[in-house]
Amino acid sequence: MPSQNWLEFLFPPSCSVCGQASADLLCPPCKRTLPWLEPTDAAHHASGPLDGIIAPVKFTDPVRSWILAFKYPPPGLFGQSASATGLVLWLARAGAERLTGATPDCITPVPSHPRRFQKRGFEPSYRLALEMARHRDIKLEPRLLFRVRDTPAQTGLKSSQREANVKNAFACRRRHLPHKACIWLVDDVVTTGSTLRSAARTLKQAGAEKVVGLCVARTGE
Ligand SMILES: [Zn+2]
Repeated sequence: MPSQNWLEFLFPPSCSVCGQASADLLCPPCKRTLPWLEPTDAAHHASGPLDGIIAPVKFTDPVRSWILAFKYPPPGLFGQSASATGLVLWLARAGAERLTGATPDCITPVPSHPRRFQKRGFEPSYRLALEMARHRDIKLEPRLLFRVRDTPAQTGLKSSQREANVKNAFACRRRHLPHKACIWLVDDVVTTGSTLRSAARTLKQAGAEKVVGLCVARTGE
């Protein structure tokens, strides 16, 4: 018996939610009961400089706990949960599949401030954008945007405060921006869309023609 079969004999693969035997991280019934959002045209959520937003699921449990485990792994060698990461990246692929229409020129993450990046040690939005880019075979431009201000976390702020908090927070490296570009802009969770709008405004001011936000989950609704 090859070693892989022994491992599966000792630790049979099981569903991350219900624990039933499952070849995938989620069994089909648990997949069906996730807080899926109805597929809508991205433009349905267009606002200001943003030409639309797509997110496949609501930010409620169990999705919420997976995203938090993915974004804030406990320190140490075995900090990041392999199953939470696998599930979040699977949702990222599901989100990327929902975007139809013209293929964008590139896909780029909403960056966090370097100070936050150093503290966390990895960039969640970059990892999501990488997964989406590979899945849809689209060019990844990881350094198109950068944070010029370290803004406080948006959690707990009202809509108008969120908008002010992230105003002029980004700048664009124009040399990475294709002419009249159509761009997919990736973040983990969308709430009011103020962060995506601020980043999209920066890209449009630099010459981008179309910017669509692509997130793993959406709060509310
Ligand atoms: Zn299950």
